[in-house]
Amino acid sequence: MAVVKANAYGHGVGPIVRALADSAEYFGVANAAEAREVRTHLPAAQLFILGPALPEERAEIVAEGFIPSVSDVAEGAAYDELAGKSRVPVHLIIDTGMGRIGAWQDEALETARGLAQRPGLEITGIASHLPSADEDETFTREQLARFHQLVAELRAAGIHAPLVHVENSAGLLAFPAQAGEMVRAGLMLYGVSPLPEWQNHLRPVLTWKARVTLVRNVGAGRGVSYGRTFITAEPMRVATLGVGYADGYQRHLTNRSADVLIGGRRCRVLGRVTMDQIMVDVSALPEVAAGDEAVLIGRQGDEEILASELATKAGTIPWEIFTGIGRRVERVVISE
Ligand SMILES: *Cc1c(COP(=O)(O)O)cnc(C)c1O
Repeated sequence: MAVVKANAYGHGVGPIVRALADSAEYFGVANAAEAREVRTHLPAAQLFILGPALPEERAEIVAEGFIPSVSDVAEGAAYDELAGKSRVPVHLIIDTGMGRIGAWQDEALETARGLAQRPGLEITGIASHLPSADEDETFTREQLARFHQLVAELRAAGIHAPLVHVENSAGLLAFPAQAGEMVRAGLMLYGVSPLPEWQNHLRPVLTWKARVTLVRNVGAGRGVSYGRTFITAEPMRVATLGVGYADGYQRHLTNRSADVLIGGRRCRVLGRVTMDQIMVDVSALPEVAAGDEAVLIGRQGDEEILASELATKAGTIPWEIFTGIGRRVERVVISE
């Protein structure tokens, strides 16, 4: 399953699902509206709704053949009532430690039996989610063993769901042998590894660029940006770029040693990130001019800035950096 929620992690869902059409069997999305959008780009796509649907979304989910996640018998009963001639395929989610959705592991068998009794339902999948696959190896190993043991118990009780899925990107990279019949890969599909040791095996899909809008010579002792948190110690050349926190270049990157790439070199962000503009130090680059390209995430010459680097400096995770890239940033497809 290719996880393409949140506009394919900010990349633009249309080109991403077309590029994955032949390699992914299912697409994972957050809600019915996202499922509908994927269908407009890929009419034959099989859609799985990763979280609980709102009551008013259920009729569309059933009518369109989207596959819902189900956590308890009441949720299942609501789908059962919407079933027509054919049964509604549902995936039972088991909470084996994520603490977000699903039937708690001790109640999984009872819940599965309750769902299996409903004539309008067909349990086509059993799933769980890993909270710490990139942080706690011991817990994750035990969690995976517990989940697969539960699946075996459900099978022994006559509940044969063909699709068993539990692993996200970190799970798949760290525990490939415990994958089950399907994995739900998100971040790694976009070329970023949740585990740094695997980054060399992946190639980032996205480059995020901005343009230099102005270059100025700034004398010593002058403040740069709101709050005057950066004061020039000596005369500097400062480039202004047309990107800011409204585009998802996080204000938390203020005074955190964030760099952008211009002319293949790292240039330090100076002072506070503003809504639409940032200032960077181009003192070492006398030829920089308005219109020049700046790379915020991606490669330029021999230098590279990964989404993970920006995330660390902003005190967040690459998932949030990607999904935070704003609507104002034009997505340009180089190759599908
Ligand atoms: C978002 C999500 C994933 C994908 O996780 P990555 O870490 O991006 O691979 C998998 N499963 C569920 C339930 C999710 O919500």
